[in-house]
Amino acid sequence: MEPSASRRAQGDNLSYFIEDPGTGTLYRRGQLLGKGSFGQCYKFTDTSTGKVYAVKIVPQSRISRLESRGKVEREIELHSHLNHRHVVGFHRHFADRGNIYMILEYCSRKSLAHILKARKTLTEPEVRYYLRQIVAGLCYLHQQGIIHRDLKLSNFFLTKNMQVKIGDLGLATRDEQASQRRGVVCGTPNYLAPEVIAKKGHSFQSDIWALGCIMYTALTGCSPFEITHKQEMYQCIREGRYPAPNHLSPGARKLIGRLLAPRPSERPSLEEVLEHEFFTQGFTPDKLPSRACHSVPVFAL
Ligand code: ADP
Repeated sequence: MEPSASRRAQGDNLSYFIEDPGTGTLYRRGQLLGKGSFGQCYKFTDTSTGKVYAVKIVPQSRISRLESRGKVEREIELHSHLNHRHVVGFHRHFADRGNIYMILEYCSRKSLAHILKARKTLTEPEVRYYLRQIVAGLCYLHQQGIIHRDLKLSNFFLTKNMQVKIGDLGLATRDEQASQRRGVVCGTPNYLAPEVIAKKGHSFQSDIWALGCIMYTALTGCSPFEITHKQEMYQCIREGRYPAPNHLSPGARKLIGRLLAPRPSERPSLEEVLEHEFFTQGFTPDKLPSRACHSVPVFAL
């Protein structure tokens, strides 16, 4: 890329055409999709194939500190080796003088956080639909030895046909690295498990705890552990004490209770989650219509 284009590619003066110097692929930059902790995410079109991507752009100036550069490099190292239908696809990455670019699978229906904001609560069949896909993606990550560490509704992206994709591996780690770094809380995960608060490190079971928080939030519209006073919230987390969601089915309440077990060893495995009565005794739709993004879907049983 000529120097002037590279200069324009910094900050808000991003160029409209960006070239991957490795392959010569020319991308046209489209709308801003959102802002992240290190940079921005834009819609990009590959000008030769017409294929659309979501591209995370991290300005080199934002990661001049070795520590932040390491975080971005780790995210790329982990994410670029993954390939699963329920994990956001990582197409390629490249850098120019101004930025680092991560070319990702485009998820046009944003995230489950956006859906919950519009809907306030989701129905149990929908939660089964989403959770089945999330559990499949998470099972793959765990089999690869990766702990996500920041599972939350805004990191579950949705494609045009309402397929869930787990994204944002910015806080993810390999299991062996997590155990070497016990007690080190890096970044701020949304749903802190009791063992993370106790600085015993984030394990595969801490991701299972987050699933409990996610399921509770999706069904009730509120997080099980709301922040009023931090110390009080930590105490509730340690004891697994949260407002009883009495209006939910017994199966949903029981599964939430198991996922939010204070002791990690008492939480179910991902296989056990799918075998729970919440899944086996209730209807799960095969597909969701896109109107489920803003209104309660009606299922023809
Ligand atoms: P952070 O890593 O700080 O959470 P990201 O850079 O992952 O932030 O994402 C910032 C925003 O960009 C998200 O909130 C979302 O709106 C959008 N975004 C990220 N990835 C995708 C994607 N694959 N498809 C569509 N939009 C995305």
